[in-house]
Amino acid sequence: MSPQPITAASEAVIARGRAVTPGGVNSPVRAFRAVGGTPRVIREASGPWLTDVDGQRYVDLVGSWGPMILGHTHPDVLAAVTRAAARGFSFGTPSENEVLLAEEIVSRVAPVEQVRLVSSGTEATMSALRLARGATGRDVVVKFAGCYHGHVDALLAEAGSGVATLALPGSAGVPASSAGETLVLPYNDVAALEAAFAERGGEIAAVITEASPGNMGVVPPAPGYTEALRRVTAAHGALLISDEVMTGFRCSPSGWYGLETGPQGAHPGGYAGGAPDLFTFGKVMGGGFPAAAFGGRADLMARLSPDGPVYQAGTLSGNPVATAAGLATLRGCDDDLYRRLQQTADTVSTAASEALTQQGVPHTVQRAGSMFSIFFREGPVTDYAAAQGQDTAAFGRFFHAMLDGGVHLPPSSFESWFVSGAHDEAAVQVILDALPAAARAAA
Ligand code: PLP
Repeated sequence: MSPQPITAASEAVIARGRAVTPGGVNSPVRAFRAVGGTPRVIREASGPWLTDVDGQRYVDLVGSWGPMILGHTHPDVLAAVTRAAARGFSFGTPSENEVLLAEEIVSRVAPVEQVRLVSSGTEATMSALRLARGATGRDVVVKFAGCYHGHVDALLAEAGSGVATLALPGSAGVPASSAGETLVLPYNDVAALEAAFAERGGEIAAVITEASPGNMGVVPPAPGYTEALRRVTAAHGALLISDEVMTGFRCSPSGWYGLETGPQGAHPGGYAGGAPDLFTFGKVMGGGFPAAAFGGRADLMARLSPDGPVYQAGTLSGNPVATAAGLATLRGCDDDLYRRLQQTADTVSTAASEALTQQGVPHTVQRAGSMFSIFFREGPVTDYAAAQGQDTAAFGRFFHAMLDGGVHLPPSSFESWFVSGAHDEAAVQVILDALPAAARAAA
């Protein structure tokens, strides 16, 4: 029997929070609804460690759901943020850091000639959709079941992430007119894509896809799939939007795009058929602060206000503190970091799989660069229907045993695990030590 977890202080804060905030949380997956128990209220974080208000320490595999690629409170990012904040919090005018961050992104992702900075991934995908509709004069968008693009009305149908965790088909409050302009197709299914375009190709403004989905768990594109997306959209005059909010600057120095076109040669799930028209970014590029972006070819981006007719704006867009954090983070994302992330992901995912195999727990590990997740079912998992077929109760038991062992996983089996450059040997050892008991709990 493992000792009862110490959660009194977390429970007290959550109870107070429930009185003033729905569910006591400001983003639904934080509420532990799928796994039960008390969400840990975090007081501070450093490197790979989270410390909660009860004084308990956890090795963090959530990474703030992706941004913390260098680890928490990285000294270079802290110094940059402190310097920037001392000069002012928000100007509402152009500032140099915005240009530097845009240059950094444009220099890393070749097809992106221009970006517009925003404050969240949701804003990025929402704005990219508006731009695609404005550019094509069409209204319909195609998204894939299990992909999550933020809480944009048109994109919540059969969405991954928290929508999947809570087993919701979509969201109340989305107008039928908005949902009616969204076609939801199964992921990795070229025949379904071709059939949809054969029927409504002339109405479709864009296909939006996660570059490599991580919000139904990690489900990479099958060989040739991304290529098919490019071929079919181009044939019908629709745009292709690659959502790299999660994969951007995480899977490689230039995200999934770089992994797909990198020194190893073209990846079978990659962009061999040509680059997407628009990209969206977030998470890593803000280094833990609210910064995100959408971008693409200059001729498309020229349609945005103030030069073009597609309106888009933001009081805090390009915020000087957030852009300082993003710049310092991206500058720390060098080849050595990606090598270390891969190694840590190899070690942890292999050990987790071995522990589960030893206990006879059906599972499959899926990877996209250093992003990985474990499905509690036999694999491969190639679409949302398969992801939904996993044993979520077994994951819940596994999750809590890991937490008891000092490891904080994402509290849902539909999420990627994120390692950071700060996950050193000591942190990895805590994970390895926690795995056998967690696998026994899952069995
Ligand atoms: N797109 C993807 C692929 C995401 O993973 C997310 C968030 O998890 C979003 C968009 C929305 O980003 P945000 O939560 O910053 O609005």
